[in-house]
Amino acid sequence: MQDDLRMLADEIRACTACPLHRSARQAVPGEGSAESGIFFLGEAPGYNEDLQGRPFVGAAGQLLDELLRDIGLDRSKVFITNVVRHRPPENRDPLPDEVAACDIWLKRHLAVLQPKVIVTLGRHAMGRFLPGESISRIHGRPRKVEGLTIFPVYHPAAALHQPALRGALGSDFAALASLLATGPVAKEQVGEKKTADQMTLFG
Ligand code: URA
Repeated sequence: MQDDLRMLADEIRACTACPLHRSARQAVPGEGSAESGIFFLGEAPGYNEDLQGRPFVGAAGQLLDELLRDIGLDRSKVFITNVVRHRPPENRDPLPDEVAACDIWLKRHLAVLQPKVIVTLGRHAMGRFLPGESISRIHGRPRKVEGLTIFPVYHPAAALHQPALRGALGSDFAALASLLATGPVAKEQVGEKKTADQMTLFG
């Protein structure tokens, strides 16, 4: 699997499918492993990620590392990538065309890694699977989308700007840990369907 990930990263580094590759220093393909079954999907590389070619290595990344540590996980045991793999100029939001052009790499990563759960960090990543939803309403609870388990949480950068969100992020990571440990989730699911089909990851 690490060979497949390396080859995929090389393909992503050569990608010119959208204009972002022209202004970015380099692509940030994503990194990590399938060991924990968790796949984190962020928004886009920022200044530090663009410089280093690695995802979540700035302030938001430090908070992500801390949230992982708090549930007993090291970042090497999860996979981390973004909905776009090149930094948008001046850290603007990724455009719909850019997200669409980059989606091929998300599909390829998911095919290789087959994660148990995809944790979407922030509204851009959530919107890829749950368009039109509001993150403040659905964060911290798993949803099934196209056979995949999606677990939306706030973006760590949002908690850096709004410290009140730090507690919600910590609780959501704790719920993620129990989802992975036990399968069934104690909380009610949101949406039209309620507890009748509480979700399990393991069948
Ligand atoms: N924010 C993101 O969404 N992704 C990164 O890689 C870094 C910060």
